[in-house]
Amino acid sequence: MARVYNFSAGPSILPEVVLKQAAEEMLDYKGSGQSVMEMSHRSKVFDDIIKEAEKDLRDLMKIPDNYKVLFLQGGASQQFAAIPMNLMKNGVADFIVTGQWAKKAWQEAQKYGKANKIASSEDKTFSYIPDCSDLPISEDADYVYICHNNTIYGTTFKELPNTKGKLLVADMSSDILSQPVNVEDYGLIFFGVQKNVGPAGVVVVIVREDLIRDDLPEYVPTMLKYKTQADADSLYNTPPCYGIYICGLVFKWVKDMGGLSAMKIHNEKKAKILYDYLDQSKMFVGTVVEKDRSLMNVPFVTRTHDADLEAKFVKEATEAGFVNLKGHRSVGGMRASIYNAMPIEGVEKLVEFMKKFEEENA
Ligand SMILES: *Cc1c(COP(=O)(O)O)cnc(C)c1O
Repeated sequence: MARVYNFSAGPSILPEVVLKQAAEEMLDYKGSGQSVMEMSHRSKVFDDIIKEAEKDLRDLMKIPDNYKVLFLQGGASQQFAAIPMNLMKNGVADFIVTGQWAKKAWQEAQKYGKANKIASSEDKTFSYIPDCSDLPISEDADYVYICHNNTIYGTTFKELPNTKGKLLVADMSSDILSQPVNVEDYGLIFFGVQKNVGPAGVVVVIVREDLIRDDLPEYVPTMLKYKTQADADSLYNTPPCYGIYICGLVFKWVKDMGGLSAMKIHNEKKAKILYDYLDQSKMFVGTVVEKDRSLMNVPFVTRTHDADLEAKFVKEATEAGFVNLKGHRSVGGMRASIYNAMPIEGVEKLVEFMKKFEEENA
């Protein structure tokens, strides 16, 4: 069996030790005689799994007691609707549109209230983060929305926007657990787990308790009310049990790696190897403004925008065991996603391969 180096943006690489443990526990989870896929979500054994996963996530992110952690379904995209439904009181929210995911969230929110685009970087293919130090925040805005790390474009917020006292809501799907976060800076954080945490099918919402309301408009589906989910400890209906179990294993792995500060050092090392190479390469170049570069997603193109050469690169890289490097169709070129589970060696070997390709095709 040969494992490849998987640079997919999502679903993406998971720690090998986690996959091995899941394999070992597949037929008989801790002497229960069942797979986690087969057991009742109301059983003691599953209750321990979800409680422990929550506890480990709380430890890792130092989530204060006045925040609820919800394990839900529907992906990050469903939260684009759930958030305005639950958090719009005045019916107004401000959006900083730094990529397709933020744009989709902004568009979806327009169905439920007044969603203002107060800043955007679309003029330059979302290749930078706009200055957010003095934005025209709406006086009656219920919240300001950001996508913290832009998976497609490879930009990230190094500094949070000045929300002028308004609540901040963040999509952290592609950089959750990659570095420490001060949860109290946010009213709500959410992430689809399939980028940096687990298998597709789980979305985690971390929401401040006072924002969980019961006085929502009649049309809000029961399942999309945070109140429903919070009151039932994420067990209102059958949750994505197996996915939650894998998330729990990954939380333990991140703890074993030393927690979020250690993860940040690990991720900075990896990203530096790749960006340092790109910065001096005569063939390849990163597409993002240096100060806004993501540690997780690294889009790059050939300096001459040579589509044939890029296709050749992706093909030969795949043959050499570096897979899923083709860029998103809206940027073109290549993208290397180097999430938590990507070992340093994977990035070093990719750069070696790129150097060789550059020499051979100069
Ligand atoms: C992948 C991604 C999404 C969409 O996630 P789904 O779970 O497929 O809905 C949303 N936001 C960001 C930042 C993403 O990377």
